Amino acid sequence: MDLAQRLARFAPVELTAERGRLSAREQAVAEHLISAGRRIGDAYLCQIWPGNLALRERLAASPGPEDRLRLRLFELMGGPWDTMDQRFPFAVDHPRPAGAAFYPEDLTKEELTAWLEQHPADRAAFSGYFSVIRRRGAALAAVPFHEEYREHLEPAAQSLEEAARLADYPPLAEYLRLRARALLDDDYFESDCAWVALQDGPFEVVVGPYEVYDDGLFGYKASYECMVALRDVEESARFRAVVDALPTLHARLPVAPEYRGRVAGLASPIVVADTVYNSGQLTKVAIATAFVLPNDARIRTTVGTKKVMIKNVARAKFANIFYPVTLDVLTPEQAAMVTFEDYFAHVLLHEVSHALGERNILQPDGSRIPLHQTLRDLYSPIEECKADIVGLYNVLFLAGEGFFPREWRESAPATYVAGCFRMARTGGGAHARANLIGFNFLRERGAIRQDAATGRFWAEASAVGPAVEELSGTLLQIEGRGDYAAAQALVQRYAFMPPEMEQTLAQVRPDLPLDLAPTFPWAT
Ligand code: ZN
Repeated sequence: MDLAQRLARFAPVELTAERGRLSAREQAVAEHLISAGRRIGDAYLCQIWPGNLALRERLAASPGPEDRLRLRLFELMGGPWDTMDQRFPFAVDHPRPAGAAFYPEDLTKEELTAWLEQHPADRAAFSGYFSVIRRRGAALAAVPFHEEYREHLEPAAQSLEEAARLADYPPLAEYLRLRARALLDDDYFESDCAWVALQDGPFEVVVGPYEVYDDGLFGYKASYECMVALRDVEESARFRAVVDALPTLHARLPVAPEYRGRVAGLASPIVVADTVYNSGQLTKVAIATAFVLPNDARIRTTVGTKKVMIKNVARAKFANIFYPVTLDVLTPEQAAMVTFEDYFAHVLLHEVSHALGERNILQPDGSRIPLHQTLRDLYSPIEECKADIVGLYNVLFLAGEGFFPREWRESAPATYVAGCFRMARTGGGAHARANLIGFNFLRERGAIRQDAATGRFWAEASAVGPAVEELSGTLLQIEGRGDYAAAQALVQRYAFMPPEMEQTLAQVRPDLPLDLAPTFPWAT
């Protein structure tokens, strides 16, 4: 692949929102938030590789057309390695260190493990989310993020303070102030709690170190990211109504009551927003459509979590990837029924349905252990399949109740079938296996059918309802009992790629993008 081919894998999209949604004062708040986001993005680049900022500067100053392509790839990858192609180095001549720049480049797992055995008092600081490990002569030391990245964090915190001063909505202002302080002392507890509670106002702002994906050495260290998004008030209210309906959804799960899990504590708040600026970890392909934060278990058990669904990202993925696949695999009549709205509702109900079902499995001695410990390697495909199928079960119910348009009873199954192909295209992984289980099960029940002449698929709505109910019940019972043997039987029977699916997949245009290459007009 040359540089142009590498870039061509991503569909260019503008991620933006109507400026008129904000007052003049709020637009000024947005500008300060974006300024903070830029500095957070710089701190992120330093976390990945110490040479990143200098490399970006050199590429930006270079008149060569090749370097322009390199700069764009650099922005999408958060550094000079192609993360969608086994970290191929496209702008440097060395591989990416597994531990990024969180550790000394020559540090091995063995060396750090041995150090911690000799210095057990260092363990907490060394394995924390918010520190880097550095050499001090022959010794190793943990340096807190707020010292290591001070030159970027101080201006970021200052911009957050300025945004807070202008923000009319007091809970937002309070959150931004707490967050500014946290960037400078690495104590995120209070501001994370404030973020979970913050569900109204014009903005949804995520800023700080969160995910540990970039630390390939130990998985300890959190990467900086920032998202400045505008809350979609109408859609958030609609989704809140779905969360409010959770006790009803719980009560009608097609499984014995003892396997339904607890209804209390189900409802993690959901916010729908349109992003106008991402930086750091969040700029990287593949860009997230939804996330649940914070990750810190202390905060999760204190105040819970919040789900954020990013509608303009979902819309761009639908238009550039999901819908083109739909057109190539469904019969024309069914493809015509699929809309962004029912696709987005299924994404939501997938997320919501993760919360349904038993999480702690009763043992013969009366104790309970977490579900993932009983299903082990099969936990992820079973759990994802449950979220998909129970999600579809719930969409069908909510459409029948008038929560969603009634015609979704026909279109939601078609959307599900298209989604199976969309996922199968991305290869293995828990989500793809989950989709194969659903696809093959529904196919066996006559709920998914194939047009012999064209090879296109369609969902037979009259058969979908009973098949989805049956599979929902099976999955919920496997989880409720923590039944590894039953999970294994289901996976062995259904998690395979059927030849007719493979043939139809071959008709999908090979040049369809892998993901998006966003730009942010609000930040230019
Ligand atoms: Zn999921």
